[in-house]
Order: sequence, then structure tokens, then C-alpha cells
Amino acid sequence: MSDSIKVTVWNEYQHEKKDPDVARVYPEGIHRAIAKHLEGEADLDVRTATLDEPEHGLTDDILTSTDVLIWWGHMAHEEVSDVVVEKVYQRILDGMGLIILHSGHFSKIFKKLMGTSCDLKWREVGEKERLWVVDPAHPIASGLPPYIEIKSAEMYGERFDIPQPDALVFISWFEGGEVFRSGLCYHRGKGKIFYFRPGHETYPIFYQPEVLKVISNAVRWAAPSNGPKITFGNVQPLEKTGK
Ligand code: ZN
Repeated sequence: MSDSIKVTVWNEYQHEKKDPDVARVYPEGIHRAIAKHLEGEADLDVRTATLDEPEHGLTDDILTSTDVLIWWGHMAHEEVSDVVVEKVYQRILDGMGLIILHSGHFSKIFKKLMGTSCDLKWREVGEKERLWVVDPAHPIASGLPPYIEIKSAEMYGERFDIPQPDALVFISWFEGGEVFRSGLCYHRGKGKIFYFRPGHETYPIFYQPEVLKVISNAVRWAAPSNGPKITFGNVQPLEKTGK
């Protein structure tokens, strides 16, 4: 389909190869779990890319033909080439959408886009998380219940050192008492960015239908909207100004 949204699901794909506990949860990798869900959506055209591929699977051809890039990374953020990060950054300014999942908050690309440390509090005891939809009119909340409950999650707590978002779609509550802004929208250039908190390599969160629904909603929201070409610099007046 030529008018389908082209999605590239990127995963560093390291934990799954090195840790049997992670491989048990995501035998084909987190990217395949997410891609498998997206492949079931008729309007999406899905492929995957991983760190160990040449240019991390994000060649010029792939990036140019990607409408929305989904990013999962955790243990290998520093292994991502600065050259590739710069290319991804330029594509976002030019209109490519970006969805950053969970521990991707510390990825080079997210930190570059935010300009802050992107640090947070965390704890891993498998506690309950409840994500409240706080912007029910937002397209990313389409078709969702008032909240999503995750039985067993890693806690991320405030303060999350990020710039003020353009829209806040979810706030998480954790059993241990913390809260977290867990669904955030930004615009950078012509690109739309969505940060979504749930995840973690040892929990089966990327099989949970509501979580996957948020990701596919976010893909449609972040897809390029085909707006006018942006120009900068000195211009002639469109009307007679008398000067
Ligand atoms: Zn985690």
C-alpha cells in the first residue's frame, strides 16, 4: 500500500541475546513482539532494525523511507554511533515521527532532542503500575479505558528531568507511592515525538493489548502530516508595504 505508514521498530537487541531470563520473555526480541502487533494493522507497513546490523539497520534508504521510528534501548546506548544519531535527528526535524519506549529515556537521540539529562528515579521490585489517561481527547488515548493496569512493572518516579511537554497523555501511579509522567508529546522541527514509559526486558509488557494499542495509536499520531515546506531567511513582502 503506497499510502500506508512506514514504521521501523528499532531495538538494541542485546539483553535478549545475552540473558536467558530475557530471552524467555522475548525469544525473538522486543522489536519482533512490537512489530508482530503492528503488522496486524492494515494501514501500517512494518520493518525492524537492530544495533548489530550495519549502520544499526538505519541506512539512509531506510531512514528516508521511514515515517515513524520506534526506539527501544537500555544497556547499549553508548554503542549507538553519533553519525547515525545525527541522521535520525535530521530526519525528525524534517518530519519523521519518533516513539521512545521505556529505558530509551537515556538514548542519545532522546537526550539530544530534549536537551536535558532525562534522568529519573527507579526501582525494580515488580510492583503494580496504573497509567491514568489524563488527556482523553488526545488521539493517542483513542479507544482506551480510563486507566491501564500493569501487574508487575519497574518503577520510574519523578522527578523526570525533561522539558515541559506539549501534551501529557498519561500519568503513572506505582504501588510504592511514586508518580511519573509516562506519556509525553513533543514537537521538534516538523517531527512529532512521543515518550511512553512502560516496558522493561524482563516483564511481558509488550504483549499487553492496551500497551500495544497505545503504541499503534502513537504511530498514527506521529506520522508525518504532509504540511507545507518550511523556508527560512530573508523574504520579499507578499503585499505592497509602502516601504
Ligand atoms: Zn527497565
